[in-house]
Amino acid sequence: MIVLGAERIASGEAELCALDTAIGDGDHGTNMRRGFDAVHAKAQDIAVLPSAAALTAIGATLVMTVGGASGPLYGSFFLGAGSAVERGLRLPEDMVEVFAAGVEAVAARGRATAGEKTMLDVLVPVLNALRTEAGRPGLADKLRAVARRSLQLTGPMVATKGRAAYLGRRSAGHLDPGAKSSCLIVEAICDGWEAGP
Ligand code: ADP
Ligand code: MG
Repeated sequence: MIVLGAERIASGEAELCALDTAIGDGDHGTNMRRGFDAVHAKAQDIAVLPSAAALTAIGATLVMTVGGASGPLYGSFFLGAGSAVERGLRLPEDMVEVFAAGVEAVAARGRATAGEKTMLDVLVPVLNALRTEAGRPGLADKLRAVARRSLQLTGPMVATKGRAAYLGRRSAGHLDPGAKSSCLIVEAICDGWEAGP
């Protein structure tokens, strides 16, 4: 999953920067590339850790390397998920609640909710789909489809959080860069999970 995530972010770098150029400062691809390359470089060490420590190591690395608004936010996702496992949730059995803990940590850190044209506009619908679809056949397909559709729905939204909020109504008509990176990460998790250990 780490390798897939890093590959997808690397190949999406230019598009993430282009999306951020339209409604932000153009660095989202570079930020994410730097962070996921750093996680990738530690992949072998992280993969042998217990789940809680692995998630925490990913989160801490992202906080230290991504920068921008998205660094602390993606860092919070993995740190939040790691603490949930630390508190006794298990993977993969409690996947839904672990993912929920990550999403809640992002929302708390960003003081944001779905509908504000951020990464949460992909993460929250994916969490909702995970809640209803977990254990059913075709889960990964469903989650990938929800992530892609939710990304498209950020187009007409007006941003009320992050740099894009400075544009007010002019932020409408562009996809949110963080929603795109979340979509890439969800796709990598689904693909990695389907491929198995
Ligand atoms: P910066 O805006 O500091 O340049 P990035 O360009 O790396 O940081 O990340 C921008 C992305 O971060 C946005 O597209 C959005 O998805 C996300 N984001 C910004 N602020 C928030 C927030 N308060 N809550 C959730 N996500 C946010
Ligand atoms: Mg930016």
